[in-house]
Amino acid sequence: MEGTGLRRNLILFGPPGSGKGTQAELLRQRHGLDHVAPGDMLREHRAAGTELGRMASSYMEAGKLVPDEVIVRMIRERLEAGSSPGGFVLDGFPRTVGQARELQAMLAEMERPLDLVVVLDVPEADLVERLGKRAGLEQREDDRPEVVGQRLAVYHEQTEPVLQYLGDQVPVVRIDATTSAEVVNQNLMRVLI
Ligand code: ADP
Repeated sequence: MEGTGLRRNLILFGPPGSGKGTQAELLRQRHGLDHVAPGDMLREHRAAGTELGRMASSYMEAGKLVPDEVIVRMIRERLEAGSSPGGFVLDGFPRTVGQARELQAMLAEMERPLDLVVVLDVPEADLVERLGKRAGLEQREDDRPEVVGQRLAVYHEQTEPVLQYLGDQVPVVRIDATTSAEVVNQNLMRVLI
């Protein structure tokens, strides 16, 4: 590794409200990692009124996952479009075992293998509280209480199994993410250096 220090291709893994987006953004700003977040990309598509955005809307409003093939195509294009020399942080992908398989195949093809999966650990009760607060602040319609329950159920049913799948192939570390964003960032940096 030369000069710039950390070079990591990583997945930030955790339930909705665990702070993946905040941490990924800090890694981008402070360490130049490419922040790849399908949720943000989909919201941009919706705001721009593209066909993809219109198609994704009904799933997002219901707290359900957008079909794998759509997401995988979007991520593939995103990763192919630019490669940050500092590495990338995937925030909100993969969310199904099918997505994880496709990811591993595409990264092997691109010769940009994953270095690490970081799990942000937050108890369920805290998540519900955090998302409730965010609903007021950011006006994200999927933070409404009735949709939050659905998103957490999807996480347990479809996304948690991804950890088992990836855990056989990539190192996994868990971080306590109940503290402030700064403290979580410090703990995260410790496992990245
Ligand atoms: P959070 O992690 O707080 O749930 P995101 O912004 O990552 O929020 O995702 C918002 C919504 O976007 C999801 O509920 C889902 O409808 C859609 N979405 C995001 N990432 C994926 C993905 N990898 N696969 C399928 N749908 C996704």
